[in-house]
Amino acid sequence: MKRVRGRALITLCVAACLLLGLSLFCIRYVAQGRDWVGFFGSTYFENGAIYDRNGTLLYDGETGDYAESKGVRRATMHLVGDRNIATSLRNVMGGRLSGYNPVTGTAFGGHDLYLNIDANLNETAYTALGGKKGVVAMYNYKTGEILCLVSAPSFDPKNPPSASALEDSRYEGVFLNRFFSSTFTPGSIFKIVTTAAVLERKADWETWRFTCPGHMEIDGQQITCPTLHGADMTLGEAFARSCNCAYAQLALDLGGERLQAYAKQGGLLSPVEISGITTATGSFVVGKAASGDLGWSGSGQFQDMINPATFLMMLGGIANDGNAVVPTLLKKETISDSKVPGALGKGRSQQSIWKQETCQKLREMMRNNVMETYGQKQFGDLPVCAKSGTAEVGSGSPHAWFAGFVDDEKTPLAFLVLVENGGSGASVAGSVAAKLLREATAQ
Ligand SMILES: [Zn+2]
Repeated sequence: MKRVRGRALITLCVAACLLLGLSLFCIRYVAQGRDWVGFFGSTYFENGAIYDRNGTLLYDGETGDYAESKGVRRATMHLVGDRNIATSLRNVMGGRLSGYNPVTGTAFGGHDLYLNIDANLNETAYTALGGKKGVVAMYNYKTGEILCLVSAPSFDPKNPPSASALEDSRYEGVFLNRFFSSTFTPGSIFKIVTTAAVLERKADWETWRFTCPGHMEIDGQQITCPTLHGADMTLGEAFARSCNCAYAQLALDLGGERLQAYAKQGGLLSPVEISGITTATGSFVVGKAASGDLGWSGSGQFQDMINPATFLMMLGGIANDGNAVVPTLLKKETISDSKVPGALGKGRSQQSIWKQETCQKLREMMRNNVMETYGQKQFGDLPVCAKSGTAEVGSGSPHAWFAGFVDDEKTPLAFLVLVENGGSGASVAGSVAAKLLREATAQ
């Protein structure tokens, strides 16, 4: 009797283990099945295709063909992919392209993905960078649609460079989509964040005046301006002229913790998920009280770092009264060669940044920057609001930045341009932004 009971117990244990294993498998099958199928080594991988918003083919999974035009291939390479780019859609959306679902598997064939980007706009942006490394991005701050997203350097995925050619410095960081995965010194575009903090936390900002000394010493460290910016400047004037001395003084008045809190509230210190891709995270190190480091951190130097995607979203938030709409890549998904929807997209999601009044005041000030400093002419009739930046990066020419949006319900576009080692932000990066806006709004 004892022996029988013992055997029964062992059998029960074995059965329980089997059941546990089977349950674990089922849970993982439902949760991760799509990833298994979408894995690069899988035989079902990529039966679908990727198109831009106008139906231009960017990649056909069945034939392995890319876009017809070499310019488009190069300008969309980071988005569409090459297996070495972790954030490419061929990597991130392999499961969707395969058309997999847990009940029918891949029996109904692949899915086609239609992106929000306009391939021609991407090509214009890539060409406008003129062979420099950098990032160009534009999105609709009401709907979240990403219309343009370029990371440079790039290459033609149809004829990729050889392994030895890739070692050349001109291909440095080529397998990173800088928009999603990199962080950069922002320079003066960070003055937008410092200004938001001043507007909300410095009660006397309206009567505050500052005379630019050209350079000043804080705790043994020099703060310098490229020129004398003027006497008795208002906050708006100091912002439009991008006076480093004024912003060092403001950073000292506010304190590092407060500046850091505004960078955090602006969404710059957390990653954001964009169509399944998690962005890199910026950072703001609090400099010692009353130090030159703290002074420089108000102008986007010292150890300030930003990620382009989160910064673009913050710009969208300023344009949209404090509601920053999360950018999205995917317009629609259909079962291949049909119009049947493959999956419902997630609804629009958004995060709130600063107060509505703060965003409104920032819009006025950024509009004034264009009128007073950068020149309206290059933007035609578009009410563009912007801030330029020329970020010192240790070696070589500074990084050129131009960041802003169109303050118009009918053309709700936010944009961000970075030209690495490009020189002056307003002229170099500003002209890329102007070209992009002209094409995006031409009808
Ligand atoms: Zn100055």
